[in-house]
Amino acid sequence: MAVPIAILHQSVVSKIAAGEVVERPASVVKELLENALDAGASSINVTVNGGGLQLIRVSDDGIGIHSDEAELVFMRHATSKLCSARDLDSIKTLGFRGEALSSISAVSHMDLVTRSSGEEIGTRLRAAAGEITDRAIVSTPCGTIVSVENLFFNLPARLKFLKSDAAEKARIGRVFSRYALAFPGVRFRLHFDKRQKFQSLGTGSLSDVLVAVYGAETVEQLLEVSGRGRHGVAVNGYVSMPSLSRSNRREITLFVNGRYVQDSRLTLAITRAYHTLLMKGRYPIAVICITLSPVDVDVNVHPAKTEVRFREPNHVFNSIEREVRRTLLNQRALNHPMTSGWPHSEVVESVDWPAPFFFGNSVESDDLVTEDNVESETQTELPVTGLPLLRVIGQVGAAYIVAEGPDGLYLIDQHAAHERVLYESYMAAAQSARVESQTLMEAVTVTLDYEAAEDLRRHLDALYALGFRVEPFGGDSFVVRALPAVIGALTPEQALLGVLEHENSHGYELPPGEEDRIILRVCKRAAVRAGRVLSQKEQEVLLRQLEKCQSPVTCPHGRPTMIRISVEHLEKKFGRRG
Ligand code: ADP
Ligand code: MG
Repeated sequence: MAVPIAILHQSVVSKIAAGEVVERPASVVKELLENALDAGASSINVTVNGGGLQLIRVSDDGIGIHSDEAELVFMRHATSKLCSARDLDSIKTLGFRGEALSSISAVSHMDLVTRSSGEEIGTRLRAAAGEITDRAIVSTPCGTIVSVENLFFNLPARLKFLKSDAAEKARIGRVFSRYALAFPGVRFRLHFDKRQKFQSLGTGSLSDVLVAVYGAETVEQLLEVSGRGRHGVAVNGYVSMPSLSRSNRREITLFVNGRYVQDSRLTLAITRAYHTLLMKGRYPIAVICITLSPVDVDVNVHPAKTEVRFREPNHVFNSIEREVRRTLLNQRALNHPMTSGWPHSEVVESVDWPAPFFFGNSVESDDLVTEDNVESETQTELPVTGLPLLRVIGQVGAAYIVAEGPDGLYLIDQHAAHERVLYESYMAAAQSARVESQTLMEAVTVTLDYEAAEDLRRHLDALYALGFRVEPFGGDSFVVRALPAVIGALTPEQALLGVLEHENSHGYELPPGEEDRIILRVCKRAAVRAGRVLSQKEQEVLLRQLEKCQSPVTCPHGRPTMIRISVEHLEKKFGRRG
């Protein structure tokens, strides 16, 4: 049956429009915060009661609304931020559609108190479901206070759709912290049911706001991104070190010209920068502010204004990926002296033994991974502590891992690197008397020749302390029940022979302590051999482990684990530089 066409009544139209802008309490908070920021506020207080349905109040010390114009804000498309369609091409304010206040007031009881800077006295207006019910003159400081009560009282369907108080508060908290992050120069305070939930001090420093949002401990693991960028796209903010990650993308926060945006492509640019640095399914924390000419971005895409369109999306995408990647490779942590020294880091050695040798010292040339044509200066610049992050490219000769670093090419000796990794973790466990043993599925009996058996008997106590569970089994036989977990890959025979193998084949000095000697030998045995083909994953894991070592650039015998060929060196070799 045909229904006659009729123009919708104004009250229905405004409810429909309100539905687009005011989805939930957090969207009210968002719109009111944007208005306060557009008004140039330096301090903004937000009070939320009952998950936002009871009361949302935002007060600011901005320019206020002139008494002649206060009524207008309840009308749709009333805005002071746009004059003509041409202005849409270069929007610098957060609001511009003139829809928020009219939409919010259509679905709530609103109370507006405001005084503009040029006036002596302020104005108070009350409205219910968008209709002004009350007007008064009030004395109030310069600025605006908008109180929204009984949100959605006339939209029961929307009320049913909302989640719990706690869930709405969490959303409000997230929206709130986004604006605090985007405007570090503004002081923000948030109260939930009279309890202060959050405050930023408006010092102007993004890292201060980050501490307020995430806590100091997390912020210590953030790296500053600061790139002027090409094509006029500046990328600034903070991203987490790969050691800090989340199981979802929710803490990737993006701002374009101070406006919070949701953009899956830009989010992808950030996660792509972490390629090979984070495991599958892990995501960084990131707060990235993109600044570009307003002419190059269209914000008028969606009523909630969280989507934008770029004139040159690839420029923006590439700038973000490049700047974040560069930051990660440089790994300059906030308040993080250990890593901030790269590439001029001092020689700091915290493992007591063995003393680190620099390349060139006590290194037999035959053993060196070094190629003749790699000048020694390019290698000795390597810091003893704190490796930069390395991106695995692949394996050569089943012995060396090729990787990209911030400043050149790295070749890593897989055996030496693994030896270093095993050595440090075994040493650390032994020093804290917390060596983990791995019990064998079945005890294994090993029979040795007389001399070796004598040797082993002398070491039984030390071996026990190092996680071996070995017992004499009559004659020259021994039962092996458990092995140290670090050397999981070795068979019981290999492990025992490794312990006993005390011929000093490489000519380096052995440490004096019995346990130290055993650790060194066992690690040498257990480390992955040259000649083993490693999967991409194995190569990555090895490099991640090596990065965590205190002395990553030498093996426990002091030989290099890696050599670096700087970009300058490559340029010289290719005749691109004199
Ligand atoms: P828009 O922000 O898109 O212009 P709104 O409905 O949010 O639309 O606000 C309408 C107008 O009301 C704004 O253009 C501004 O002139 C005025 N206004 C709203 N909130 C404030 C405030 N906190 N301080 C000063 N003026 C405000
Ligand atoms: Mg607005």
